Amino acid sequence: MLRTESLEEITDGKKYSVNDMVKAGTGGCAGCSHCCETMADTIVLSPMDVFNLEKATGKSFEGLVDTCLELKIHDGIILPNMKSDNGVCVMLKDKRCTIHAERPDFCRLFPLGRLYEDDTFSYIMQINQCDKASVKVKVKKWIDTPDYERYSKYILRWHGIIKKSAAKAAQEPDRCKDIMMSLLQRFYQVSFVNDSDFYEEFDARADLFIKEVLGG
Ligand code: SF4
Ligand code: SF4
Repeated sequence: MLRTESLEEITDGKKYSVNDMVKAGTGGCAGCSHCCETMADTIVLSPMDVFNLEKATGKSFEGLVDTCLELKIHDGIILPNMKSDNGVCVMLKDKRCTIHAERPDFCRLFPLGRLYEDDTFSYIMQINQCDKASVKVKVKKWIDTPDYERYSKYILRWHGIIKKSAAKAAQEPDRCKDIMMSLLQRFYQVSFVNDSDFYEEFDARADLFIKEVLGG
C-alpha cells in the first residue's frame, strides 16, 4: 500500500538487505497482539497469501471472501485484504493468530516493511509501530520464508503486475473493469493447485495475463 508519510517519518532511515541484521525481533510478542487488533484492513493479500489461506482453512476464494477477506480498492486496483471485526483481524482468537504457519506476507514481515525502487526492493524498519521490537535478527531469519530467491522474484513480479494493471486501468477507463476482474479471476478466484509448484504456476499465469490483458 502506498504511504503518504515520508520514509524518515515512519522508518529508522535505513534500507536493509535480506542478509542484514535489524532490530525487528519481538521476543515472541509476549502476549501482545496489538498489530493484529489494528491493521487488518491494511493487510493486502497477494496470490500466494490467498493460496496459503486456502490451505490453512480448506476454503475456496469465495469461502474466504465470505469469512475472512474483503475486496477493496488498493492503490487503484481491486485487491483482497484481511477482514476485521471492529479493527481486530478475524483470524485472531484468544490473542493468537489461528493461521500462524500460513499467515500473510505482511504479517510475516511486520514490523519490517518493503520499499520498492525501480526493479528491486529493500526492507525497512517501521518505527512507532511495535513497542517490543528491540532484538537484533537477520532479516532472512525474521521473514522465515523458504526458497528466498524464488520468493523475492515472485514478490517483484507481482508488484510489477499490480503497478502496470493500475496504470493501464487509469489510462483506459473503458477497460478498467475488465482489467480488474481479469486480475481477480486469474490470480485469486481460480485456485492454484495445492500439490503443484506455486511459483511455476504463478509465472505461467503472469505470462498469459501480461500478454492477453496488459498487452505485453
Ligand atoms: S505489535 Fe509487535 S509485539 Fe505486538 S503482536 Fe505485533 S509484532 Fe508482536
Ligand atoms: S492473519 Fe494472523 S498475524 Fe496477520 S493480522 Fe491476522 S491474526 Fe494477525
